[in-house]
Amino acid sequence: MHLSSTYHQQKVSEFVPISKELQCLSSPLTEPHEKDLGAVTSVFWDIEKCPVPHGCVPRRVGLCIKQFLENKGYSGPLTITAIGVLTDVPSEILREVYASGIALNIIGSTFSTTLDRLICEFTVKNPPPANIMVISDAKSFASDYASRLELRGYNILQPVPSYSLEGFFQEDSGVLEEDKCSETSESAFWICSVCSDNIHGQGFENFTTHVTSCPHKRKLLDWLPSDARFLSRECGDQAKVNEVWR
Ligand SMILES: [Zn+2]
Ligand SMILES: [Zn+2]
Repeated sequence: MHLSSTYHQQKVSEFVPISKELQCLSSPLTEPHEKDLGAVTSVFWDIEKCPVPHGCVPRRVGLCIKQFLENKGYSGPLTITAIGVLTDVPSEILREVYASGIALNIIGSTFSTTLDRLICEFTVKNPPPANIMVISDAKSFASDYASRLELRGYNILQPVPSYSLEGFFQEDSGVLEEDKCSETSESAFWICSVCSDNIHGQGFENFTTHVTSCPHKRKLLDWLPSDARFLSRECGDQAKVNEVWR
């Protein structure tokens, strides 16, 4: 319904053409504007391309990103979403990441396609001032797209995009007490964009139940190339599905 709306189509046309070339914003690091500091911030994290670094506790990711932003003066409402196919991310890591207050978004299409849609949805809900941060590689978030958002009054957090999570963990520098680190934010949500109706839920157990359910697995097959789909038509054949995603 939303995607076919005139409003959405207009918004999409503003973004076209979006070049996916490898390029970075040449603008230097600037001090944040006063108006942006208290505004809402959304962080879109490509958990497949920028996984939790070795030696870093997954449960700290949410807090580390939050601290990174607070150190820069951003204190508004924060949403962090980990986006990916997620079948390759170990369940215990996902559980910890989720427990750190990070929302999970399972996708069937590519990160950049999903990112365009999520940012579009975010801007529809949040007029400027608002802050956007992307943690992925440069190909996922083209600089002209970022510039266009900036022209509309959005603040794109530097670096654009952030290539890995390691910087956030360095920023954290172990100042936090161990018990503070395991503190969980208010329960995050999860979204399944593989299923056509963008199923929403809360709680990691419900998430696990959903991704292992037959209806979800059947939907997952719709995103595979047709010959792969033919091979793994039987519901429950998760091993084959995983193989194809590699
Ligand atoms: Zn839209
Ligand atoms: Zn699903």
